[in-house]
Amino acid sequence: MLQHTSLHTTLDAEMDKILGCIHCGLCLPACPTYQQVGNENDSPRGRIYLMRAVAEGKLDVANPAFARHIDLCLGCRACETACPAGVNYGHLLESARETINEHGAKKGAKSGSFQKLMLRLALRHVFPYPKRLEKVFALSRVMRGNALIKFAYNRGIVRKISRKADFALSLLMTTAPTAGSQNVKIKAAEQAQPAAAEPGQSLLPVAVFTGCVMEGLFKHANDATKRVLSANNCQNIEVPKQLCCGALHAHSGDLETARKLARQNIDAFERFLGSDHNPENPATIIINAAGCGALLKEYGPLLKDDPAYAARAEAFSRRVKDVTEFLVANGIRPGAEIKQQVTLDAPCHLYHAQRVMTAPQQVLAAIPGVEYRQLEGMQDCCGGAGIYNLSEPEMSEGILSDKIGKVKATGARLLATANPGCHMQLGAGVRLFQADCQVVHVVELLDESYRQAGFYQPEA
Ligand code: SF4
Ligand code: SF4
Repeated sequence: MLQHTSLHTTLDAEMDKILGCIHCGLCLPACPTYQQVGNENDSPRGRIYLMRAVAEGKLDVANPAFARHIDLCLGCRACETACPAGVNYGHLLESARETINEHGAKKGAKSGSFQKLMLRLALRHVFPYPKRLEKVFALSRVMRGNALIKFAYNRGIVRKISRKADFALSLLMTTAPTAGSQNVKIKAAEQAQPAAAEPGQSLLPVAVFTGCVMEGLFKHANDATKRVLSANNCQNIEVPKQLCCGALHAHSGDLETARKLARQNIDAFERFLGSDHNPENPATIIINAAGCGALLKEYGPLLKDDPAYAARAEAFSRRVKDVTEFLVANGIRPGAEIKQQVTLDAPCHLYHAQRVMTAPQQVLAAIPGVEYRQLEGMQDCCGGAGIYNLSEPEMSEGILSDKIGKVKATGARLLATANPGCHMQLGAGVRLFQADCQVVHVVELLDESYRQAGFYQPEA
C-alpha cells in the first residue's frame, strides 16, 4: 500500500463516496475527454479506478499510463455535477497530481514535455512573486499593443509561420479591452470614475479579489466590476498585497504552493476586513474569475490540517461570492438598453465547482434590450482549463472546435463568459474557427449599459 501520500489521505477521507460509486456511468457522457476519445481510462469512472489502484498498491505510481490518463483530465468537474453518489472528484484529481509530482518523479516517472516543465517552473517561480509576475504581464501588454506584431497577426503572417504560435498569440490578443469584432463598443474601460450610489441606500462593504491574470491582462474587467458594484450601492474596500489565488497550482498538483498563497491572501484580507464573518461584519469578497472563485471558496478544505489557519480559512471562504451571484442576491440596478443577441458559455468552475448555475444569465436578463440565445452544452468545458490549452493542445482544440460550432449555431454576436481562461480560449476559438462574435465578460456588458445610462462621472 502506498502510505502517507496526499492521494492516500484523500482517498481515505473519500472512501465512503468512492465505495459508493455504483458504476452507473452517468459521469461518462458529461466528460469531455471521454467524449473525445471514448476510452474508459479517460473517463471519471476509469480515472477513479486507477487512483484507487495506486492508493492500494496495485498499480505503480510511476506507471506512465497512470500519469497520462490523469494529465489528460481537464479538471472541469462536470463529473461532480453528474454523479449521484457525490464523489468529490476535484480534490481526488489534485491529490493524484500531487502524488505523481512527488512520488512518481522519485520513482523515475517522466515529468512530461518541455512545455509542461516550463509551465510548472513558471507556476512555482513566477506566479507567487508579484514583482516577477508584473514584469511578465508588462511584457505581454507591450506585445499585445505592438504595431508590428499586430500587423503580422492580423494579416495571417504568424499563422503561416507557426499555427501553434498563432494560437498562443490569439490567447494574448483576446485579452485586449477592444478585442473581437466590435459588435458592441465596450467603452467603459476608458472611464475611471466610479458611479454614485442610489440616493437613500445604505452601502454594502465589498473587497474585490483582483487576481493575477485578471489584474495583469484584464484590468478593464476588474475596473468594470468595481464600477458596477459602486452603481449597485457597494462601498469598495481596496486590499493591497493580494497575491495569485493559487488555483493553477492546486489544479496542477502543487498543493504546497497553493496553501502558501492561500495563507498570504487570508493575512492580506484580514488586515482590512477582520477575521470574523458575521452580521456585524458582513464585508463580502467579490471575485469575477470563476477558476479563482472556486479555490477561494475551498480555502477551508485546503488548509483544514493547518491549526493556525483552518478556522480563518473557513471564515475567509464564507465571505467569497462570484460577482454575478452577489449582484443577483442584492438586486441589479437597471441601466440603458443594449440591443444585441447575446449567448453565454458558463465557466466550469462557476457552474460545476461553485454550483452558480443561473446567476450570469440573470445578470444578462437584467440588461434591457439583450436578446438571450441559449448555447447548447453551455456548461461543457471549452478546453481552456487553466493552462490545459498549452499543455494538451490537440485535445483542447478538439473540444474548442465543438464549442465554437455550437456558438455559431446560436447566431449571437456577443459571447459572454466570466473567467479569464475561458475568455482567452473562446477568443482564440472565435478567430481560429471564424465565428462573427465578440467575447466579453458578463460584467463588462452591464458596465456598458450603465455607461450609456449616464451613471458614471466623466474622467476629470
Ligand atoms: S474533471 Fe472533466 S475531464 Fe476530468 S474526469 Fe471529470 S468530467 Fe472528465
Ligand atoms: S457518476 Fe459517480 S457513481 Fe456513477 S460511475 Fe461516475 S463516479 Fe461512479
